This record gives sequence, C-alpha cells and structure tokens, in this order.
Amino acid sequence: MLLNLHTHLEGCVRPETAAELARAAGVPEPPLGWDAALCMHERSDLTMFLAHVAAAYPVLADLDALARVAREAVDDAADDGAVFVELKVGPSTHAGPGRPIIEVLRAVCEGVAAAKVPAGVVACMLRHESEHVNMEVARAACRLAGKGVVGLDVAGDELLFPALSPYTDAFAMARAHGLGLTAHAAEAAPAEAVREAVEVLGVSRVGHGSRAAEDSNLLEWCAGQGVSFEVCPTSNVLTGAAPSLARHPIHRFLSAGCRVVLGDDDPVTTGVRLGAEVDGLLSAGGLNPSAVRDIAETSVGVAFCEDGVRARLRQMLR
Ligand SMILES: [Zn+2]
Repeated sequence: MLLNLHTHLEGCVRPETAAELARAAGVPEPPLGWDAALCMHERSDLTMFLAHVAAAYPVLADLDALARVAREAVDDAADDGAVFVELKVGPSTHAGPGRPIIEVLRAVCEGVAAAKVPAGVVACMLRHESEHVNMEVARAACRLAGKGVVGLDVAGDELLFPALSPYTDAFAMARAHGLGLTAHAAEAAPAEAVREAVEVLGVSRVGHGSRAAEDSNLLEWCAGQGVSFEVCPTSNVLTGAAPSLARHPIHRFLSAGCRVVLGDDDPVTTGVRLGAEVDGLLSAGGLNPSAVRDIAETSVGVAFCEDGVRARLRQMLR
C-alpha cells in the first residue's frame, strides 16, 4: 500500500499541461520544449535539479492553473497506486498582484479536494524568502487548517540559509492550529540539522535527512525521539545526496530503528513515481519486502491527516 508523503506540486506539472497553460497565458515555450525543461534525464546536483523544478513556475502564476495542476498531481499519484498524498507547495513563489498567498494556497486546496484520493496540502515556507513573507505563508496555512492544509514545512537552500530560528514563531503557531510539522533538513547540510529542526522547530518529521546517516549517535537519538524521515530515493541519487539505491541512507535509517516514510519528491523532474521508487528499493536497493510493509504502517501512523482518513487507511492496511 502506497502513501506518498513527500511530493511537490512544482515537480508534478505534466509537460503537456505546461504546454497548454503556457499557450493560454502567452508564456514562451522553452528552447528545447517542455519535456526537456521539466524532466531531468541524468544525474547532476541540487542546483540543476531545482532549475528543472523552477521551469514550471511561469505557468503556475494563475489560480485556475494551480488548482488544475494540484488535482492532476494527486490524480497521477493515485493512478500510480497511492491511497493518500501529501502535496507540498511553496505558495509565496506563485503569489503576485491579484494572487495573495492565501488565495494561492486556497486554489491548491480546491484542486486537491477534487482529486481521486484523499490528500492534504503542506505549505512550504522558503528559506530564501523574507521572514515577513514566510510568516504570511504560515498564517495562511493556519487559516486553511481543516480546509485542505494539513501541515507546515520549510524548504530551500539550507547551505545558503541554515538558520532555523526565523521559523520558530511560525511553527509554534502551526502547532497551535493542529497542523503537522515537518522541515527539509540535512539533505545538503550536516547531520546536526536534523536535531536542530526537531529541537528548535518541534517537527516530528524531516524531509530527506540524508546526511543524518553519517552520524550513528544522531540516528539513535532520532529513533528514540520517534522522528520520521521522509525519504525520496531517486531524487537523492539525482542530486548526489545518495550514491545509489543500494547505498541509500534509508538502509541506515531502518537498521537504526528510525521511522521511515516515502515520497517521490518531484516525479516529473525525476521521471520516477512512488510505485517505481518502491520497486527500485526492492530490486536495486535490496530492501526486504517486510520493510516496505513496515513503511506503509509507519506512513499511516504519521501521515498528516484527519482521524477519519487515518482510520480508513488503517483498515486498508489489514
Ligand atoms: Zn522536498
């Protein structure tokens, strides 16, 4: 049973949808076409990876487009076998004149609500944005808690912007509104970024956390704290955060007794959806099928969703 707990709207834009939205909005076609712009066909680094993700931004500057792309993202995940999806979005990127952050987030919630399977929206604050803009994202997320938004996250370049203290108020407010808390940490920054995210922001989950695998004491601490790692295998290989599926940090997380859930991060960028991620972990990654079953159980336990949805997911596990 697949739960996709880490996938970004911006990395889920179908090339054919991008082409259609671009024609309607008068956005010029990229020199090599939308497929080449959005999809990364070889291993590189995080900068190149993010450039492919960002290629979708010009067509997302419209509320109807955002709603459509959100619905298609969840529908595509459902067609891949996912029974629950958490769709991450950085609403400040797509806001503009006539499109305040809250309306961007509301449009994404509307799209997700029209999709085939239950899904929740996780609002991402972005490290390169000002504290003021990120607070606005957090406030919008809190206003839409229970209306589609299920969680708050922080994403972006953690090497250029390592400080977490600017987000403490935002996470405290999100906690008070019942939102799930997660942070992208130690994808590129040293392992300690995971402990900091847990201690400073109070998150229960971390996005990627790849470099935590370098520190066995930290992994032991994470296991004791019940921290969940949102693992996105192919994305980590393409950005260089993991050498291969066989030598992916997931194996160290699991053997240290840490909680692990899965996502496909940016499936259009990577060309690999969650179902294929699991197949890859089982074959090239050498993961035991019982570990995959454990991951599904963990995912149901730690997904950011309402109790009713969790109860239904639990029944599906049986
Ligand atoms: Zn991510």
